[in-house]
Amino acid sequence: MKTYIVGNWKMNFTVGESSIYLHKLLKLIHFYRGIEVVVAPSTIALQTLSLQLNRQSNRKKVKLAAQNLYYRDYGAYTGEVSVSQLTGIVDYAIIGHSERRYIFGETDKEISKKVAAAIRGNITPILCVGETANERDFGETEEVLKDQLLSGLRDVSLEDIKKVIIAYEPVWAISSVKGARLASPDDVARSIEIIHEQLKALYKKDENPVLYGGSVNPSNAGAYLTIPGVNGLLMGGSSLIADQFNAIIDLAKRVQN
Ligand code: PEP
Repeated sequence: MKTYIVGNWKMNFTVGESSIYLHKLLKLIHFYRGIEVVVAPSTIALQTLSLQLNRQSNRKKVKLAAQNLYYRDYGAYTGEVSVSQLTGIVDYAIIGHSERRYIFGETDKEISKKVAAAIRGNITPILCVGETANERDFGETEEVLKDQLLSGLRDVSLEDIKKVIIAYEPVWAISSVKGARLASPDDVARSIEIIHEQLKALYKKDENPVLYGGSVNPSNAGAYLTIPGVNGLLMGGSSLIADQFNAIIDLAKRVQN
């Protein structure tokens, strides 16, 4: 299985800055067959970066992801972007990120529709799941993860489940969250195990890449990447600095060998 190194730029960088970043990253990174490098710029920069990748025949080196999408194809949905509008521009879409869930009030039902819409449009959904600090303190991690998978994958068939990537992101470990704490590899290992167990319970098979995200940086990335059942990383802060992001890509290759 490939190792996925995914950078979520969130609401950072203008279109020009995004383009300069990509230019720098393309100069820095090596193409490693077993490593899938994905960046998720803001929606407004996607088209520019897509053309930039095409122009330099670099689509194999770096893939694009949307940070969100809407599940209807077109119509009166002010401010939203549909799968059909993203087709040909992105290969992936981050869905159900905790910022979407807790700042913008996205519900499990909406998330499941987005996952299904992405699959219909041949965009690989990266479904984010993870417990909040309170849920963890109340010992609810297992229940939350199982519930979020059950509801997020509600409309995904046995045939399509292989098209989904799961990202485990404990909300309390995300660097931009007030009072964020670093998750220990043991904490992460247990949750990753729960996720794989739930996938097996729901689909009688478990072929999905599962990524970890939460305050990953070049010093701790190796420890997370070597946890059994972790197939890559989803990063916010560390993806905003091209040198750091590239260092983590190189590290992922070394860990794989
Ligand atoms: C995220 O928000 O998905 C994330 C993992 O952020 P950070 O790497 O900054 O903790």
